[in-house]
Amino acid sequence: MSIKIYLDYAATTPVDKKVMQAMLPYFSDRFGNASSLHSFGQEASQAVEKSRKQAADFFGCDSEEIIFTSGATESNNLAIKGVVKAYRSAQQTLGVSGRQVSQKPHIVTTSFEHHCVLDACKSLEKENLAEVTYINPKKDGVIKAADIKKAIKKNTILISVMCVNNEIGTVQPIKEIGKIVKEYNSQFKIQNSSPKADQPMAEKFKILLHTDATQAINYFDCNVDKLGVDLLSMSAHKIYGPKGVGALYVRKGTNIARVQDGGGQEFGKRAGTLNVPGIVGLGAAVAEIKNQKSKIKIVVSLRDYLIKKILKEIPDVKLNGSKVKRSPNNANFSFKNVEGESLLLMLDAEGIAASTGSACSSGSLRPSHVLLSLGMKPEKTHGSLRVTIGKYTTRKEIDISISKLKKIIKQLREISGNVLIDYYKKND
Ligand code: PMP
Repeated sequence: MSIKIYLDYAATTPVDKKVMQAMLPYFSDRFGNASSLHSFGQEASQAVEKSRKQAADFFGCDSEEIIFTSGATESNNLAIKGVVKAYRSAQQTLGVSGRQVSQKPHIVTTSFEHHCVLDACKSLEKENLAEVTYINPKKDGVIKAADIKKAIKKNTILISVMCVNNEIGTVQPIKEIGKIVKEYNSQFKIQNSSPKADQPMAEKFKILLHTDATQAINYFDCNVDKLGVDLLSMSAHKIYGPKGVGALYVRKGTNIARVQDGGGQEFGKRAGTLNVPGIVGLGAAVAEIKNQKSKIKIVVSLRDYLIKKILKEIPDVKLNGSKVKRSPNNANFSFKNVEGESLLLMLDAEGIAASTGSACSSGSLRPSHVLLSLGMKPEKTHGSLRVTIGKYTTRKEIDISISKLKKIIKQLREISGNVLIDYYKKND
C-alpha cells in the first residue's frame, strides 16, 4: 500500500468535515446573493453575518470591524495600500503645506514578510507613493521590537509585522510593538478627524499597526486589543477552512480606502459579490479553533519529538529559527550539501509532502528571502526543508517520514559528494 503523509500544513490544511458540512447548503439550496433584498438574499446575508460574528468573537472585536476578502493576500494588500491611499487622499483634501504634500508617507515592515506584503510595499515604492524601511530579524528569526522603534520617522503612518513567519515559524513580538506604537501615538494630540494643515504628519495621523496573522490563528491568542493592532489579516485555508476566503480586521475609526472598485459590499471597503459558502466556512473554522486548545499540546510534543530526532539522527543539520519562540507546528531545517528541491521531489516520490522555502516560491530556485534575512549565505539556503504538522498528524507518520528522510539525505549527499569528486578530478 502506498504511503501518503502530509507535512505541509503551513501551505494549506484540509477542510474540517464539520466546516464542510456547514458550507454545503450555501452552494445549492441556499444560493442567494447576500446583497439581494429578497428572502434568498436575506438567508445568505444572515449566514454571512453569523460568520462575521464568529470571526469578531475570535478576534475580540465588533462585527463591523471584520471585512471579508478572498484570502490573506488580498487582506494584506487592502491593509497596506488602503492605508496609504486613504492617507494620500486626506493629504490632498487637507491642502497641507508644500513640504508636507511632497513628503511621502513612510511604512516600516520586515524583510521576511510574506511576498504579498513585500510586493505590496515594493509596488507603492515603485509608484512613488510611499517609502518603506525593511527591518531584518535577528539570527534567531525574531524581530527586535526596539529595531522597529528606531525605524519610526516623522512621516511613518504604518507598521506591518507578521505574527508568525510562514517559513521558519518564528513568533514575532507584536504585543511589544503594539505598546511602542501606543506610546508613540500618545505623545501627540492625534486628530485624525479634524487635523490642522500645519500640524506635522505624525500629529495628524497616528501610526497604524498591521499584522499578518495568517500563520498564528490556529495556535495563538489573536485578540486585537491584547495585540494592540489596528489591522489584522487572516486566511481560512490555513485553519481547516476553504481556500479563496479571508478576512481583514479594521479597528473602528481607522481610515482605509478601498483598492478595488465596484459595489458597496463590506461597508464600502471591498467591492464584489460575497463568497457566501466560503465565508460560512471561515466562520465555522474560526469557531472550531476553541475546540482545538487541547490539541495544541499534542502538536507541540510531536514537533519537539520530530526536531529532537532529526537533529540527533541526521548529521550536519541545523534548525532554522528560534527553538522556543516558534509556532507549535513548524520545524525548518538546513541540511549541509543537500539541494532542497531534490530533497522535496525524493520525499514526494516516497509519498511525503513537505516544503522548501514557502510554497508560493517553490518551483523557483531563488534563495529563500526568509533565510537570507537571517544572514545566511545564499549558497547555504538551498538545503532547507520546512516540515509543518497539524491536527491530523500522528507520531507514526513522523517516524516513517524521518526514516525516509535519513535514507534520502544519505543518497543525496553521496550524489553531491560524487559530483564534487568529479568536479575536482576534472579541475585538478
Ligand atoms: N501571509 C502568510 C504569512 C501566509 O502564510 C500566506 C499563505 N502562504 C499568505 C499571507 C497568503 O494567504 P492566501 O493564500 O490566503 O492568499
